Amino acid sequence: MKAVVYDQPRSFTVKEVAEPHAGPGEVRLRIVLAGVCGTDGHLHQGEFDPVYPLTPGHEIVGEVDEVGEGVTEVRAGQRVCLDNMQACGMCTSCRRARPQYCASAVMQGVNVPGGFAQYIVAPAGKCHPVDDLAPEVAVLAEPTACVMHGLDLLELRPGSDVLVFGAGPTGLVLAQLLRYVGASRVTVAAPTAFKLEVAKRHGADEIVQIDRADPGASIQRLRELAPEGFDVVVDATGTVAVLSRCVELTRDGGTVFVYGMTEEAAELTVSPYEIFRRELVLKGSFSQAYSFDRAIAALRGGRVRTEGIVTHRFGLDDYGAALAALADSACIKAVMQP
Ligand SMILES: [Zn+2]
Ligand SMILES: [Zn+2]
Repeated sequence: MKAVVYDQPRSFTVKEVAEPHAGPGEVRLRIVLAGVCGTDGHLHQGEFDPVYPLTPGHEIVGEVDEVGEGVTEVRAGQRVCLDNMQACGMCTSCRRARPQYCASAVMQGVNVPGGFAQYIVAPAGKCHPVDDLAPEVAVLAEPTACVMHGLDLLELRPGSDVLVFGAGPTGLVLAQLLRYVGASRVTVAAPTAFKLEVAKRHGADEIVQIDRADPGASIQRLRELAPEGFDVVVDATGTVAVLSRCVELTRDGGTVFVYGMTEEAAELTVSPYEIFRRELVLKGSFSQAYSFDRAIAALRGGRVRTEGIVTHRFGLDDYGAALAALADSACIKAVMQP
């Protein structure tokens, strides 16, 4: 089968590799769509602990095409979303129901082969049937599961005024679900006008375009919207330039929510006095845990609208172009169609 294969950072080829087969308890999926994510950009640079040779791709929709011995959960021909995280279940983090800290977790598309290939093998119990969802909706299950996990951690107080920086796929999904968990107002701030329009169509109350050349003016506009600060300021961009403005926009007693993944080496300067005096909360969210089926339920129930989010589609041979699309302001979500 054909697959994208990295042998070291920034070095990949699209080549023939051995087709995998389903063992006991496993199924083989024919990949229908695999989403390209900011994490894949970090993996390209060698960040996020990749194990080589690596086939990336962790946002996977596939069709069950081979069923291993003893599998009863799914059947051949079924369309499924794959939960790519397999925690060990035995370490202290797993025993405390915190699989996202599991040091020996198997993460398909990160430390074992993922979905930028024609086939993948996975435990049947990690496959969530989605025959009723269009593939371009289902491909957002994994990022939505991460958002759902973020909301579990955020514990938003009903009535909160929330600012979300970033109108990429996760920013757009977060902005929608924040309303359903009780935000009184959701403001989305981002540099690209058409992405903000998508946010608005999907229910954002306010949109503010960030002028990259003059961010100060945009910050002033946000200050006018919330003179005492927002209860919660979410960074869904993963850039320090944005994170460094979050504290000043947060209300006393409020929360700065670090949702985007920055470069590993990035550092943020925060005044500890301000955290102390203003009782600020600095909170992070990584990956997903026990949230995959709820994410699919939210997509199924229309609580997460996906129209306009997938903007770019590529074949495996064009993986280089798909990576380039991550940095293209015309792209919200790119997907691979192997
Ligand atoms: Zn992702
Ligand atoms: Zn573990």
